[in-house]
Amino acid sequence: MKRKMRVLWLSAIACNGNMHSFLNYPYMEQFLNDFEFISHPILDSEYTLEVIVSNDIPCDILLIEGAISEEFQRADVPIVNIIQRYSKIVQKIVTVGTCATFGGIFRESDYKDISGLHFDKESRVDTFKNIFDKTISVSGCPVHPEILVNTLYAIKKSIALELDNYLRPKEYFAYTVHNGCVRNEYFEYKIDNHQFGALEGCMFYEHGCQAPYTHGSCNKILWNEVNSKTRAGLPCMGCTEPSFPKQNLFSTKKNMGIPEYLPTGVGKRTYLTLAGISKAFTIERLEKKLFDD
Ligand code: SF4
Ligand code: SF4
Repeated sequence: MKRKMRVLWLSAIACNGNMHSFLNYPYMEQFLNDFEFISHPILDSEYTLEVIVSNDIPCDILLIEGAISEEFQRADVPIVNIIQRYSKIVQKIVTVGTCATFGGIFRESDYKDISGLHFDKESRVDTFKNIFDKTISVSGCPVHPEILVNTLYAIKKSIALELDNYLRPKEYFAYTVHNGCVRNEYFEYKIDNHQFGALEGCMFYEHGCQAPYTHGSCNKILWNEVNSKTRAGLPCMGCTEPSFPKQNLFSTKKNMGIPEYLPTGVGKRTYLTLAGISKAFTIERLEKKLFDD
C-alpha cells in the first residue's frame, strides 16, 4: 500500500475560516487517500493535540493556520515552541491563509507582537528565519482550497515550486485576480458597475475592486469550481496581500479623478493616456444590460 503523507494542522490565532474553506475541497475523499492528518481540529486523526505538543510524532508537512504571538498557547504550550519542535521533523511548512502568512485580521487582536510566520505585513520577521527555506505561503482570507491542496500534492510529488518574495507559489500568485474576470471588456472601456451583484460593468473605477493589484488565481481557478467574487458582482478586497485588511472597501479612493492605486505595473502617465483613449469610445453593447431583469 502506498504511504500517505502525514500532515499536522496547527491552528494559531485564527477564526478557523481556512479550515472551513479547506473542508469545501470537492475531492476530499481522494485527498484523504493520499494524505492523513496526525492531528486536525475537526477531521479524524491519530493523536490529540496534547500528545502532539509533548512528543516528536513523525510527520511530513506542518500546516499553520492563524497569526502568531509568543503569548499564544495550544494545549498549554506556546505555539512558537510547537512550531519549532515540528519544523525540525517535517520536510515542509505551509502557512495557510493571510493571517499565518502576514498577520492579517488578527494582527489587530490583543496578543503581543502578532505577525505571520515570516512576515509582519510586508516586513520580514526573523523569529523563524531558520525555517524560512522550508516554508511555502498560501495566502488568502480564506485560503482557496484547491490552491492549498495543489500545493500539498506538489510537495508530495517533490515538484519544485517557484516562489515569489512572500514564498507564494508563482503558479497561483504571479497573476492578478483581474486576470480571467469576465468584466475585462468593461475595464478596458472604463465602464463601472453601479449595482452590486449586477452582471455588467467593471468595479475598479467607482466600487473599489482591488483585483488589478491583488495576486491570486480566483478568476483562473474558480471557487467551488463555479464562481468568483468579481464574476458574481462583488469587488475583490485584496485578501491575499500583505496589506489586507484595508479600510473603506467598496469605494475607489481617487486623487484628481485618478484611482490612488493603479493596476500593478501601470504608471500614472500610461494610465492617463489609455484612459483618455478609452473614454473616447462609446460601445453601445456594453452600455446596455446583458440580461433582462
Ligand atoms: S471587476 Fe475587478 S477583476 Fe473584474 S475587470 Fe473590473 S477590475 Fe478587473
Ligand atoms: S476575489 Fe479578491 S478578496 Fe475575493 S478571495 Fe479572491 S483575492 Fe480574496
